[in-house]
Amino acid sequence: METAARTAPAAVIVAIDGPAGTGKSSTSKAVAGKLGLGYLDTGAQYRAITWWMLNNGIDVNDATAVADAAAKPVIVSGTDPAAPTITVDGLDAAGPIRTQEVTAAVSAVSAVPEVRALITDLQRSIAAEAPNGIVVEGRDIGITVLPDADLKVFLTASPEARAARRSGELKGKDPQQATDLAATREALIKRDAADSGRKTSPLAKADDAVEVDTTELTLEQVIECVVTLIEGAGAEKAGRVAR
Ligand code: C5P
Repeated sequence: METAARTAPAAVIVAIDGPAGTGKSSTSKAVAGKLGLGYLDTGAQYRAITWWMLNNGIDVNDATAVADAAAKPVIVSGTDPAAPTITVDGLDAAGPIRTQEVTAAVSAVSAVPEVRALITDLQRSIAAEAPNGIVVEGRDIGITVLPDADLKVFLTASPEARAARRSGELKGKDPQQATDLAATREALIKRDAADSGRKTSPLAKADDAVEVDTTELTLEQVIECVVTLIEGAGAEKAGRVAR
């Protein structure tokens, strides 16, 4: 387990957005661990509600049916960066939400405004209750969920780099898919287009977000860069609070 070797000088709220495969989750978890902050994976929440819809026979392409059922599942996220958890109606969903079936369906479910309203409320309450501050990663955190975040980071990378990383992550979990780089790249681009093109809270960079292109960076370099940004934002916040 990673211990908090560095400290954010004040309880900071950090929004990290960007498309899939930019290193958002690995970076967010690592910086939260280093700085003693909580960690919330909002993609896992959208995946969890999607998993529930699939398990309960809801047609994920029927927005009305998804909207009508959206309030039924109880989704609980654990925010320890060393061991983040997600349950749906008390069942551990961490494994099942990463299947191809869920990945292929999640953009349709997350585009439904009623789903977004419920999950956004949940995310805000989790962030408000984080005692030492929190790193929240997703697609719409800086613009919609936490527009007053102390720091907003937007991670990008070329489609090739993102597909190569995602394919590497899938190795072991799904060897067939991991070998098919072109298919992974295509699926990522399709999901990004759906997430960026939807009407409600599309994937987008906030005007005041710091953009970090991770294409040529190692994970360690991205982590160091974000830790430094958070330390700066924390110092600024501590200064404001003291004044
Ligand atoms: O981050 P991850 O790839 O697990 O996210 C899964 C999906 O959840 C995204 O493709 C997107 O449809 C949805 N999502 C969202 N808003 C967020 C986080 C994720 O719509 N803040």
